[in-house]
Amino acid sequence: MATRVTPRSWQEHLFCVIFVLSVICFFLIYKYPQWFVAEEQIVDYFYWLGKSTSFWYATVYSGFVCGLSLWVLKRNRSPYSGVKKPLSQYQRRKFLSIFFAQLICFYFVPFILPEFLDNKPFFSDPYKPTDKDAYIYVYNGFLSASGFLYVFVLVPLTVWYFGKRYCSWFCSCGNLAEVVGATPIGNRWVKQYTPRSEGARKLEWLQYAVLCFALFFGAIMLLHGLEIISAPRLVDSLREIQDLSIDLMFGALIGVGAYPFLGTRIWCRYGCPLAGMMRLFGKFSRSRFAVVTHKTCRGFNLCSKQCPMGIDVAKYAHKDRKPLEGEFGLNNSPCIGCGGCVDICPVKALSFKKILNPHNLSPSPQVSKHHKSV
Ligand code: SF4
Ligand code: SF4
Ligand code: SF4
Repeated sequence: MATRVTPRSWQEHLFCVIFVLSVICFFLIYKYPQWFVAEEQIVDYFYWLGKSTSFWYATVYSGFVCGLSLWVLKRNRSPYSGVKKPLSQYQRRKFLSIFFAQLICFYFVPFILPEFLDNKPFFSDPYKPTDKDAYIYVYNGFLSASGFLYVFVLVPLTVWYFGKRYCSWFCSCGNLAEVVGATPIGNRWVKQYTPRSEGARKLEWLQYAVLCFALFFGAIMLLHGLEIISAPRLVDSLREIQDLSIDLMFGALIGVGAYPFLGTRIWCRYGCPLAGMMRLFGKFSRSRFAVVTHKTCRGFNLCSKQCPMGIDVAKYAHKDRKPLEGEFGLNNSPCIGCGGCVDICPVKALSFKKILNPHNLSPSPQVSKHHKSV
């Protein structure tokens, strides 16, 4: 299904150039300040008001996410619908969740609270290399008991109950994608530039390759840490691949820098190993999550154009404009439950299956026989 692409204005071209250059500078200075100045000069050059680059990065990032969430909530209009439509209860809850998750879990707890608990002056950060293990990647599940509980118990449990809503309601990377996708310009990037061809969907196997790497890296680090094997050079090489190729190039520079060219969820579709694990878990655990299609569908296909994950939602809703009543979930799509398709449909032909409805406790969602696996 071809999407009509509105040409970019010169202002948008200029914005894209500034945006991409800022993302590159921002992430390089944040993650690798030692590439630019000697280690002992990093505080002088890149720390500001006695606070680290990590602190300022988190402040700008969280300020942006929380500010835009508040803007959506205050505006009280659906960010997805072309017509003026009030913000649905689902979207209100989602943006409230994004606001509080970002503010409390990804800013206050890691960056403000420890300073008060340590009882040290707030504006006096000593130099500390950026802790790349602080990101929630699957390999963290091998490094500590809390990491194991988070990655291998808590996240799969949320998938079982809520689907991959973790990605659209909570995750810090997903929070940025959601708020940018709620602005008029970001929403246009999602609609016009998200890859939607069959080939683009097949390429999602890349995520499983990143997942395999993460599991291998985590297992090697665990065995090395327990002194069951001694492989310092292997650990160093794997860490270099993780830091440079996956974390910096794929996750940060492409994952965020490509928003204007490939939509907001490139990393989430092709890179994030946690999402790969959630998707596998959802496929085989018969998660209760599903998007239900109703007989009111008229075949407008707006839902497919709105999906940031490149899912051909309309394929589940109609065949040659004849409505298909059924549902789709994690067994046949990478849906993150953002609700964009539900919101944009003008005839209410899509809804989410209710999580706590006792009729939903059957082991397997009924999927229309017309639905192919994505
Ligand atoms: S796919 Fe990964 S990075 Fe994206 S929102 Fe989900 S957990 Fe976060
Ligand atoms: S579900 Fe709604 S938006 Fe999607 S094809 Fe049907 S009528 Fe169109
Ligand atoms: S199918 Fe709908 S709810 Fe799922 S990711 Fe796409 S737009 Fe969001």
